[in-house]
Amino acid sequence: QEYPLQRESEFSWRIDPSGKMRVPGIIYADETLIREMDDKVFEQLCNVASLPGIVQAAYAMPDAHWGYGFPIGGVAAFDPDLGGVVSAGGVGFDISCGVRALRTGLSIEEIEPVKKQLVDALFRQVPVGVGSTGRIHLNDKGMTAMLKGGARWAVEQGFGEPGDLERIEEKGCMAGADPGEVSARARKRQQDEMGTLGSGNHYLEVQRVAEIYDPRIATAFGLRENDAVVFIHCGSRGLGHQIGTEFLKYMVLVASRHGIELPDRELACAPINSELGQAYLGAMRAGINCALANRQIITHLTRQVFADVLPKADLTLIFDVSHNTCKLESHPVAGRQRKLYVHRKGATRAFGPGNPEIPETLRAVGQPVLIGGSMGTESHILAGSEQGAGLSFNSACHGAGRAMSRHRATKLWRGRSVVDELAERGILIRSPSMRGVAEEAPGAYKDVRAVVDAAEKAGLAKKVARMEPRLCIKG
Ligand code: 5GP
Ligand code: MN
Ligand code: MN
Repeated sequence: QEYPLQRESEFSWRIDPSGKMRVPGIIYADETLIREMDDKVFEQLCNVASLPGIVQAAYAMPDAHWGYGFPIGGVAAFDPDLGGVVSAGGVGFDISCGVRALRTGLSIEEIEPVKKQLVDALFRQVPVGVGSTGRIHLNDKGMTAMLKGGARWAVEQGFGEPGDLERIEEKGCMAGADPGEVSARARKRQQDEMGTLGSGNHYLEVQRVAEIYDPRIATAFGLRENDAVVFIHCGSRGLGHQIGTEFLKYMVLVASRHGIELPDRELACAPINSELGQAYLGAMRAGINCALANRQIITHLTRQVFADVLPKADLTLIFDVSHNTCKLESHPVAGRQRKLYVHRKGATRAFGPGNPEIPETLRAVGQPVLIGGSMGTESHILAGSEQGAGLSFNSACHGAGRAMSRHRATKLWRGRSVVDELAERGILIRSPSMRGVAEEAPGAYKDVRAVVDAAEKAGLAKKVARMEPRLCIKG
């Protein structure tokens, strides 16, 4: 199948509606990224563009690659009053997977002499790997409180400080969560998993701020060159996955009853204004709270380790932002503000300056946008831009994006050699799975610099700082 891509500008490409498409598909990327993007992204984008109630366009970010139903790096907004839908595959199975960035109050020179001690202590204290469990065990009542309260619940339980909440999306607690829609099975899977990183590309990393692109915004974010910062990337663990799996099945079953024709079974969805749509939104928001609480607990564990190894450290949040969500937001469409359910799957919310959802202390400069690259390449912090509102509903990329499958990566790299080569460059990796490390080899990802440059030049967000990894606990 051929996808007639029209170049709209240097950094945006368009697929005009044809067949069942209701809106165009728009991809933000430079020429090389487009050329290397797998065709499946275009196919999936066209499928998303044919869903009921979709508004304006189906978008793909520069890091896009194919995913379950929706591309990863996909953004789509739906109007509930026009039959708009919510889709479990459009949120992703790791509900509210996201990144949290922390300042440490330390320069990298202070970290370097104790780096080995630090990485080993973090690896001991922060549970990581498939099915890893933590020290927190929740009974059903505790689970319900966590699903309602998110990071706010975690702070009440003694994990972190009330001041942290201000720097978390939704102030740490997603409204409208309905723990009653979270099944016994999902709860059971999560009961021992709070405060764990999980597997795959989830990580806890210490990085050096290597370059500042925008001094004014960097100062507002509290970033200086040579600072040591921490990135934590993880999500809602078994709970989110179970919610996604269950609701996907229900959505497949009811789609035809609602007269929804699915171009792909993986796009299963339900009208926002339906019982199932509302049930999913309630469960998904509970999943968001689970992820926010999880990152909050991991932050607490990280602070404990730093207090031990580097007592001078003072870990404060820069921001915590999710990249797998569906949220009700107000956006201008053709000059009119509309309330839309914005799916961001492997895409980061990027609210621009002045947006009332941004913490007051950051409002003048825009929301921090946290972009991981890989354990061996650079990562970036960007800021939401004013232009972003008129583009992809204030959304930007979420990472470098995979350039190849995990399977192919294991044919090209061996985990042990990856760890050794990185150690030679002074980057210390600890992981329970050498196979996992091979799957996650830096070369398995796209060029993150090209991705953030494209995001910036397309107007989605503004580059603020570039970081280099120094140590990484890897799922
Ligand atoms: P995802 O949310 O799709 O699972 O992954 C987000 C992004 O994180 C990936 O596209 C990749 O660029 C980035 N990433 C994966 N592993 C690492 C890592 O170990 N360190 C850093 N800094 N980024 C990573
Ligand atoms: Mn993620
Ligand atoms: Mn994830």
